[in-house]
Amino acid sequence: MSLPQFQLLFAQTTQEAVELLTKYAGKIRVLAGGTDLIPSMQQKLFEPDYVLDIRRIAEIGGIRELPGSGVEIGALTTLTMIEHSEVLRRRYPVLTEAAATVASPLLRNMGTMGGNICLDTRCLWYNQSLTWRQACGFCIKKDGDLCHVAPGGTKCWAAFSADTPAALLCLNAELEIVGPSGARRVPISDFYTGLGDNYRRLQANELLTRVFLPEASADYRGVYRKLRIRGSIDYPLAGVAVAVKRSNGRCADARVAITAVNPAPVMVKGAREALVGEVIDEALAERIGDLAAKTAKPLTTSALTPEYRREMIRVFTKRSVLAAAQS
Ligand SMILES: Cc1cc2nc3c(=O)[nH]c(=O)nc-3n(C[C@H](O)[C@H](O)[C@H](O)COP(=O)(O)OP(=O)(O)OC[C@H]3O[C@@H](n4cnc5c(N)ncnc54)[C@H](O)[C@@H]3O)c2cc1C
Repeated sequence: MSLPQFQLLFAQTTQEAVELLTKYAGKIRVLAGGTDLIPSMQQKLFEPDYVLDIRRIAEIGGIRELPGSGVEIGALTTLTMIEHSEVLRRRYPVLTEAAATVASPLLRNMGTMGGNICLDTRCLWYNQSLTWRQACGFCIKKDGDLCHVAPGGTKCWAAFSADTPAALLCLNAELEIVGPSGARRVPISDFYTGLGDNYRRLQANELLTRVFLPEASADYRGVYRKLRIRGSIDYPLAGVAVAVKRSNGRCADARVAITAVNPAPVMVKGAREALVGEVIDEALAERIGDLAAKTAKPLTTSALTPEYRREMIRVFTKRSVLAAAQS
């Protein structure tokens, strides 16, 4: 599959990038690692007139400890850097676990933190070639007006399918977004809309520049588990992130988030309340698994059945809660 015609632009600074995004708003796409953008362009899912390569913007790369106030991760930091970061592994292990499961080593060398957070939602009926989609009459998300997943519906149910955002939700991470009027910081929980076809709150002329992990979320035990078809290289079809803090053998705080089974990554409602103050055992872990399965709303957006994906959310949540409590 060939790429559509486009003009490649480069930015050396965040300000330059925002100026170009503003000038060509609606006709331009940001390229970071390109591991999702390029295949999507080959499938003619995106046909921008301009592609803005941001990899030369040195100020938004790397991992920096902020003494007393956590860690800052530049949007261009690769997933390999996150996976192997000593400080993240020691203080925010749920993130390094999640990053280590993304795609394959080669793709993690190219793929970035910002690209993972901004990853487009996915669906069996959307992530296909132009010919394939045309043969099916297209869909709401691109070029059509019907939904193959929920016939008769008007909402797009494409599933959010990145791994690290579930871990970032558990860490109460904040995102720095820069636009023409300056920088703003938003909790990652406010970044996603829950709509498959308009999944993130990011204007066409804005750039995601940094991720902040608060000090208060450091030193939790963290576990990430995912279901995928090819164990060596695949998007999650169900993903669970768990972060637990213990004190005197009891759970002092806990957060559980799931991904790839809804149009956005989401926290599991009631999990924290059920865990805090308790000794975590098999029965309690099972209850949290049930809560996670209730939060998951998988539909036929992938090759695996929704029932199986929901069941795996339950199983992985139970296992992850127990693993986080014992590690
Ligand atoms: C075979 C294969 C398997 C994969 N498996 C997984 C997997 O298991 N888990 C997973 O999470 N992902 C997976 N991916 C997707 C992808 O590799 C990762 O999500 C990666 O982190 C994307 O980062 P990137 O820098 O390459 O993003 P890009 O492809 O450069 O960009 C992705 C999207 O984000 C936008 N974007 C990127 N950076 C910014 C920014 N700073 N500000 C604003 N917008 C931005 C782009 O415009 C684009 O829309 C897979 C991809 C392939 C090809």
